Amino acid sequence: MDALPDEAAHRDAAARDAAGRRDRAVRAAVEQGLLDSEPLVCLLDTAGIRASAAALTGAFAAVTAPGTPVLHAFAAKAAPLVPVLRLLAECGLGCEVASPGELALARAAGIPAERTVLDSPAKTAGELREALALGIAVNADNHQELERLDVLVAAAPTRSPLGVRINTQTGAGAIDALSTATATAKFGIGLRDPGARERLVRACLDRPWLTRLHTHSGSQGLPLALIAQGVRELHTLAEEINAAAGRRQVDTLDIGGGLPVNFASDEETPTYAEYAAALRGAVPALFDGSYGLVTEFGRSLLAKHGTVLARVEYTKATGGRPIALTHAGVQVATRTVYAPAAWPLRVLAYDAKGAPKTGAPVAQDVAGPACFAGDLLATARELPELAPGDLIAVPDTGAYFFTAHYGYNSLLRPSVHGFAADAEGRVRFSRARPAQTTAQLVAEAGGAFRDALLQPDP
Ligand SMILES: *Cc1c(COP(=O)(O)O)cnc(C)c1O
Repeated sequence: MDALPDEAAHRDAAARDAAGRRDRAVRAAVEQGLLDSEPLVCLLDTAGIRASAAALTGAFAAVTAPGTPVLHAFAAKAAPLVPVLRLLAECGLGCEVASPGELALARAAGIPAERTVLDSPAKTAGELREALALGIAVNADNHQELERLDVLVAAAPTRSPLGVRINTQTGAGAIDALSTATATAKFGIGLRDPGARERLVRACLDRPWLTRLHTHSGSQGLPLALIAQGVRELHTLAEEINAAAGRRQVDTLDIGGGLPVNFASDEETPTYAEYAAALRGAVPALFDGSYGLVTEFGRSLLAKHGTVLARVEYTKATGGRPIALTHAGVQVATRTVYAPAAWPLRVLAYDAKGAPKTGAPVAQDVAGPACFAGDLLATARELPELAPGDLIAVPDTGAYFFTAHYGYNSLLRPSVHGFAADAEGRVRFSRARPAQTTAQLVAEAGGAFRDALLQPDP
């Protein structure tokens, strides 16, 4: 999709602003001593997060008939931090959760039940009962789960809007592990399997309380047109169910999240406005007010606004290639380390004072602290040659990176700090998550149960 010239100029300016905020935050992090007690910290650009939330709500408001109920529920798994959920709530968003842990985080953030949506392919009976008691929206994954809901709905009245998740089976994107709409994907009820559609329509007609359809057909690596096609299938199915029911039984469509993110530069593309336009092109009736809408974006709201900042501890050359040993590796960038081709990250070099490092680019490996050879954030990356005490910044890591810590080598979870400029332009940090302490790590590793395995064998 070609952007209009003024849109492109606006996008360039926004990218430059984001890069400028990041540079100032890196320098301020050094000056204010954030790296004195920890070798790596994680930063969140709160102005950027607010701007993304505003872009999302604005893009949908611009195309939706006045009065249409629209809930943008942030997918908590992208950044499961209570202060993040709270900030987004202040921006008008709700929360999509998919585990008892995520639900607890949403409740701790003060997200009201009516702005919370529970998805997950394997909800226990207990989780369903709690959700219905709280009145949060639930999307069932399959026919067996609908049967569990039958029992619960009959046992006690609930305010929970209830829906069912569809796999439109519209096809895979560039990353297999993230493609939710393949013929055999594990989520939801496949729509194209023989007899599946008829069974699904019947399942809805049998359950007058089933008022929502849900699909999450997008993800990183998917073209907008394919995501929009999935939403079109959802809309068509809702119309079919409502025609068969002779009333508007399905009143809300939950279209999921899955807008891809650009990891190659600071430009935010595709935009929510482009996605809304693609949806309007593919499903003109989606926004006409005949259905309430729910969205569940995660990565596209947070990814661009997170930066991992780490010290270079040592440098060396092996086999002729320079290697920088840093403190940022698999624990904060798990996908990149295990699947570098699918999840390339930019690495930015700064000197020990936090100024962007200059100098002729040299191909070097940027390695993490973990004890396996593949723990590399970048291989043969052209950067000014790094030296001990320098810093690397890894942008675009606000979703599914440092917020999805991986406990390999018992590497501690680093602290997370939000940053914003105050009225004088000074960067102010506010801690959103403390660093994990070694005492906490020992406790979580069974420290209080030291002798538990010492009983003699029977
Ligand atoms: C992961 C997930 C999302 C968010 O996906 P993003 O690609 O981060 O936007 C939304 N809905 C469901 C059901 C999910 O599993």
